[in-house]
Amino acid sequence: MAGFRLQYLGPVILITLCLITLSTFAAVSLLHQQASATHMLRENVQSRQAAADLRGGLNVLVELEHRKVENVADLHVQADTNLRAVEVSADQPEEQALAGKMRAGFDAYLRRWQALPPVGDPRHDQAFVDATRFLEENVLFACRAYEAYNDRRVEESTRGHEQVLRQLAWGMATVGGLGTVAGLVLGFGVARSLSRSIRRLRVQLRDAAGMLGPDPPEIVLTGEAEFHGLHAEADQLTARIEDVVRTLNQRDREVLRAEQLAAVGQLAAGVGHEIRNPLTSIKMLVQAGLEDGSGLALDDLRVIEGEVRRMERSLRTFLDFARPPAPERRPTDLVPLVTGVADLLRGRAEKQRVGVHLDLPPGGVAVTADGEQLRQVLVNLGLNALDAMPGGGELRFGLKQWVTGPVEIEVADTGPGIAPGVMPRLFEPFFSTKDTGLGLGLVISKRIVDDHGGTMSAANRPGGGASFFVKLNAG
Ligand code: ADP
Repeated sequence: MAGFRLQYLGPVILITLCLITLSTFAAVSLLHQQASATHMLRENVQSRQAAADLRGGLNVLVELEHRKVENVADLHVQADTNLRAVEVSADQPEEQALAGKMRAGFDAYLRRWQALPPVGDPRHDQAFVDATRFLEENVLFACRAYEAYNDRRVEESTRGHEQVLRQLAWGMATVGGLGTVAGLVLGFGVARSLSRSIRRLRVQLRDAAGMLGPDPPEIVLTGEAEFHGLHAEADQLTARIEDVVRTLNQRDREVLRAEQLAAVGQLAAGVGHEIRNPLTSIKMLVQAGLEDGSGLALDDLRVIEGEVRRMERSLRTFLDFARPPAPERRPTDLVPLVTGVADLLRGRAEKQRVGVHLDLPPGGVAVTADGEQLRQVLVNLGLNALDAMPGGGELRFGLKQWVTGPVEIEVADTGPGIAPGVMPRLFEPFFSTKDTGLGLGLVISKRIVDDHGGTMSAANRPGGGASFFVKLNAG
């Protein structure tokens, strides 16, 4: 999914950024060109307006002078004002040249006008006509040229503006087109990839469903890959998983029952085996006594008593295994409990030249447990350790409380350690490497620890010997 996102997110972001940049650039350049075109147009229109005003005034002046009207001082002032407006609005070199020409001509005309011979002078009329022609030729014509120049400029600006608009329209159409094409291509890519993923998912779902059931469903690859089908298949898979889990739970219970039955069978066989030997000894002694007719000697009776005790012990062990009493849990301090077990074993240990050591924390270590059952476990482990050290050694009881909560009891010896073939079978009922062993000690111990919600494990120690660990919850 992350790959899918990266595969499409990159191009989408890139194309979006390109389109935004392109659109922004087009908008800004449009604004800029529009502003400069408008400015130019406004200037040209103003210049042209000023020139038109001047030309109108000059036309009236010339017309009046043609009609020999000489009282035109106001019109001179008016023309001068208009000419000034033209000069102010002339910002192009050509305009400035024409404005300069008009100003020079108008000033020369005014000088001629002021130098007109008085009315009645025979030269007056001719000088008047000359001045009027001078005005026409030097100012009015230049004013028309000025106007024409501005007309051309307005025309050019309008054409430029139109061209900008045309370019912009094309630009916008290109951006829109590119955006649409990119959207289509990406959308198509995403849709294709999604549909492929859905189809693959459906195949995997059917495959998984097939693996869960005895009748593998037919996998049909169709072109359509909608979510609806996917949901239906996921629902089917969930239903199958539920079915399989239910069946597995059922099988688990059946296997457990079969194991229990097998254990009962083993137990019966074990009981038979353990009781047959002492029974045979007793039978032989009793038969011998009956044949002699002399009864049983004290020694024979002692042997018989010993054999009966052995049968009794075996039976108790079997019963413990088959029907362990429920633990009676109460707050128990492990320090005196472990110390008591060590003291109990010390007698036998001394006979074997085994030193017993305690490695206990200061203060108490509290657990909620059946003290009697725990004592049974530790005695069992201690006796096994002593069995492993017939020629002497060290037996150590350790007690640790982890910061995280659990409490660990270790029973360590310096015997030969647990043989590789024995390790996986340690907690198997009736597995024993000892001649007189029942192979139930560790099984019963583990069952007691399990009943207390703890764990039991064994390991060989790096320096030689074996360690058994009993881990219990503190408190
Ligand atoms: P049993 O003592 O009757 O044999 P257990 O269940 O107590 O039955 O022990 C099973 C086997 O585990 C033993 O026969 C022995 O081979 C092995 N075992 C137990 N404790 C030790 C130990 N401390 N060192 C080496 N082997 C051990």
